[in-house]
Amino acid sequence: MHELAVASSIMEEVMRIADEKKAERIVEVIISIGEFSCVVGEQLLLALQTISQKTKAEKCRFKVVREKGKIYCPKCNFVGETTSLPLKTTQLGGLNPLIPLKCPKCGFLGTKIVNGRGVKIVRMKLLRKSNP
Ligand SMILES: [Zn+2]
Repeated sequence: MHELAVASSIMEEVMRIADEKKAERIVEVIISIGEFSCVVGEQLLLALQTISQKTKAEKCRFKVVREKGKIYCPKCNFVGETTSLPLKTTQLGGLNPLIPLKCPKCGFLGTKIVNGRGVKIVRMKLLRKSNP
């Protein structure tokens, strides 16, 4: 399961930041998922809830936001969001990154993805240790 691998690397990062900031608990984590990252939000949340048990992030609120992908067309130099994408990531359980993305301006099929492949932490809410 791809989402579990992504969830573990997110948790690693979350724990690293929490340690750095000397946080006692992690209250909220907001994660952005790129349109072309092939990660299903619901499955990622489930994986995060599972692996955060018995850690500082237990009972933490995980939220995902979608990041719009961007493509570049080498034929007409278009850079921007795709409009012709016929795929709904949540319905198909992640889209195939090998499917050529059509340029909305000139219809060229050899466009390149320039943004929206990654999964990253956008914001975290931490509870710090109170000073005695
Ligand atoms: Zn084009």
